[in-house]
Amino acid sequence: MKLQFIGAARTVTGSMHHLTVNNKQYLLDCGLYQGRRKEAFEINRNFDLFDPSKIECLILSHAHIDHCGNIPNLVKKGFAGNIYCTPATKDLITYMLKDSAHIQEKDVEFVNKRRKKQGKNPFEPLYTNEDVEKALELVRPVKYRTEFKINDDIAIKFFDAGHILGSAVTHLTLRENSNTIKLGFSGDLGRPNLPILKDPELIPEIDYWISESTYGGRLHDKIEGMEQNLADVIKKAISRKAKIIVPAFSVGRTQELVYSFHKIFEKGLAKPIPIYVDSPLAVNVTGIFREHEECFDKETIDFMNKYDDPFGFNKLAYVNSVEESKKLNELNGPLMIISASGMAEAGRILHHLRNNIENPNNIILMVGYCAENTLGRKIIDKEKIVKIFGEEFHLNAEVVVLHSMSAHADADELINYCKKLSIAKIRKTFLVHGDYDQQQLYSERLKEISIRNVEIPNRGDVFEI
Ligand SMILES: [Zn+2]
Repeated sequence: MKLQFIGAARTVTGSMHHLTVNNKQYLLDCGLYQGRRKEAFEINRNFDLFDPSKIECLILSHAHIDHCGNIPNLVKKGFAGNIYCTPATKDLITYMLKDSAHIQEKDVEFVNKRRKKQGKNPFEPLYTNEDVEKALELVRPVKYRTEFKINDDIAIKFFDAGHILGSAVTHLTLRENSNTIKLGFSGDLGRPNLPILKDPELIPEIDYWISESTYGGRLHDKIEGMEQNLADVIKKAISRKAKIIVPAFSVGRTQELVYSFHKIFEKGLAKPIPIYVDSPLAVNVTGIFREHEECFDKETIDFMNKYDDPFGFNKLAYVNSVEESKKLNELNGPLMIISASGMAEAGRILHHLRNNIENPNNIILMVGYCAENTLGRKIIDKEKIVKIFGEEFHLNAEVVVLHSMSAHADADELINYCKKLSIAKIRKTFLVHGDYDQQQLYSERLKEISIRNVEIPNRGDVFEI
């Protein structure tokens, strides 16, 4: 049996691992590499380390684009096997991949305009909505904690990773001749006490462990203080009739925020103010959340029994049309606008930032990770002048940054999870989905709990297991 690391190797993006059992090939995740345009273009376009048409099936950990976003291209390049994931992931990727296809088509339009001027041939988009439709036909949902035999060589069982709705830690049983091996794949590991979601579930005994390492060497602020921090921002906005602008991912973060504000208002931690969720994708995704109570923790279920819909309340409005979105400009504070994208790189949030960023009375609330060179990162770093749609704006609004809402386990939480695994049995641990400095720090921490045989694979590295 062989394991080859293709994506998220010494980086946090483009999750993809290749497994060979009994001469048959499988993929764990098929994520989009996100980074500088030219580099991303090369990496995503070609599957140079394997032939997509030879892959038996794909096992998908969760619906984030850096884990599922290259599936339509895999199908376009000849993959015709089944795609296994949890039922909630199946529903989420329906919207995520269509949204991604739209972005791919827009992106290539922009590049092609320039190429046309230079007299060069146009590029094709990485994939289109048609490719997404073909990919979605291949998806087969498998419920949590239910063993599913793919064939005589391989069986899988998903456990709740507590990272986003439907996210899974996958337990695989691999058989080749008389040899049986148990492999664990963390996907992205969540954290205990995140709003809505269950805490990460432990997997049974394993021989090999593929662990994410995003925050292998860092700690987050405590989740426990989050509600009070959010309530304080609302109070501040009320006192000066401010508009609060919140860049947030449509999947997960937006629903967590909505539910958190619902709780804050019910508990009386702050007086309710009008909240607008301005993202068509968020509207659709919130509908999917409502259909997957099996992913909710006990607190959320109890809340639902008392107040009905965690994602709906009096002062909350979901905004769909462009006209409604534009009308938000005319309203006076106090109010809050939650809009995508989370890193403020695209989407309606750019309009709201443009209209509100220069007013020192307003507040920009940053609640998510923002990669380097993104507008979100520049706002977090409080750069005095930022560019929006190519125009310069003074960042006069107050910037409030909350680090407690990360959906990834931090260093202590990763170690606490690993401590409970069958450590004595684990022959080797592979660290993926992390920058190299974080992985080295994580590797040191793993040694302290007697997980010694740790590898930090590079792209293309192959291991016999
Ligand atoms: Zn993720």
